[in-house]
Amino acid sequence: MKHALPLLTALVLAPLGAVHAADAAKPASKPNIVFILADDIGYGDFGCYGATKVKTPNVDRLASQGLRFTDGHSMASVCTPSRYSFLTGEYAFRKQGTGIASGEEGLIIEPARTTVPALLKRAGYTTGIVGKWHLGLGTKPTDFNGEIKPGPLEIGFDYAWIMPATADRVPCVWVENRRVVNLDPADPIKLDYRVQRGEPRSFINGIPRIGEQTGGKAALWDDENISTVIAAKSCAFIEQHKGEPFFLEVATHNIHVPRSPNPKFRGKSECGVRGDTIVEFDWTVGQVLDTLDRLKLADNTLVILTSDNGGVLDNNGPDTVHGIGSLEANNGHLFNGVLHGTKGSVYEGGTRLPFITRWPGHVRSGVSDELICQVDMLASFAALTGQALAPADGPDSLNVLPALLGERGGKPCREYLVEQNNDASWVGLRKGPWKLLPPDKGAKAPGKRLKPEVEHPAEAVANKDYPPEKIKLFNLTDDLSETKDIAAAHPDIVAEMSAKLAEIMKSGK
Ligand code: CA
Repeated sequence: MKHALPLLTALVLAPLGAVHAADAAKPASKPNIVFILADDIGYGDFGCYGATKVKTPNVDRLASQGLRFTDGHSMASVCTPSRYSFLTGEYAFRKQGTGIASGEEGLIIEPARTTVPALLKRAGYTTGIVGKWHLGLGTKPTDFNGEIKPGPLEIGFDYAWIMPATADRVPCVWVENRRVVNLDPADPIKLDYRVQRGEPRSFINGIPRIGEQTGGKAALWDDENISTVIAAKSCAFIEQHKGEPFFLEVATHNIHVPRSPNPKFRGKSECGVRGDTIVEFDWTVGQVLDTLDRLKLADNTLVILTSDNGGVLDNNGPDTVHGIGSLEANNGHLFNGVLHGTKGSVYEGGTRLPFITRWPGHVRSGVSDELICQVDMLASFAALTGQALAPADGPDSLNVLPALLGERGGKPCREYLVEQNNDASWVGLRKGPWKLLPPDKGAKAPGKRLKPEVEHPAEAVANKDYPPEKIKLFNLTDDLSETKDIAAAHPDIVAEMSAKLAEIMKSGK
């Protein structure tokens, strides 16, 4: 009898211990998720990533309270394929038609598939998106005068307040759920996208746009208040759904062109209008964080902040129209830090981005060097909310939740990562410190690629032979700027990674 009690105690406590361990791994309560997706903000654009000519106190606060990643990525180096990959968990190159969308493109995500919002809705979340969409709406060519569907509501969002594409193209109107906001039926919207690429051909609110919009005058957005509206609608969504688990994607238009910051942000950076729009972005982040604090939701909210692709100075040129000589005004600000390449490129500057997670008490604060990608959010959110994914769901999404939380000691969540440009005519492969960079097949096709910009010494060196004519290999541990091609010294690694890249592009993960 002497030992009976301890034995009994051990038997009783063992299952309890197991339950506690499970609770720790899988939170009993569902945290709100706020996913802040910047547009074209590069690796070096925030103070916490080394910027000195623009101040970003709110982003820096988030980073100091959470985990700052040094190797966080989008899947693609331009908007549409990047956003497609985030929402579907599928590499964009697997689906035709995922290149940069016009403003009259049909929805490019199949409504039946499991997306990030559809998954979270299944877990009992109320889901919303505010801001930039750029994934097509309805059926091409989109009719903006009636009920617009399919769109965000057909792929899992309960609420949507969106700009259909980007402010550099028509239509320049807000869409709330399935309707254009403030549309006068007597003044229907007509779009003309016969000239979609190249020089902007029409002016709205005095700003050049790609494509032409006639009609819809009462519905036109006010460019200088785009951020104000996105912040207000985001905070209103949070306020409205404070009593239930919610997922909110805050898809800012900052800092994409045309850069039209509110006058109160003009001149607030030391690197021109581009910098001023970063200040405006930071303000938006502050509005969202303050709302979470005020409603006492911060402790129960996983905030993720990242960008859809790397930085670029003046793609499409509207900044110049504002009378700002961008290169000069940029004042040497290294928007992609030490990285080589810009938006549109498959050098690291195209897809390696600021990536910050915060969930007090759950996310370790500090810095993480783990390789993660936005394509992994689907599987990670499935793990977070205790849901299983069918094999066809998010075929390229890996559960990187341990990395997002900053758990130590495990092996890296992601071994390989494919990086692509707009139409996957240029792809790269990451594996640990290695970066395989095959030639850019689209480089010689006119109009297929974005113009490289020479910004700092690393850029200048690498641009000498831009685009690459042969397969290259870099070791990012000692050459983060991708200036020293060491393919010739490592034929075995080139062969292994080339075979792996071909295999991934053909099939599974
Ligand atoms: Ca973008």
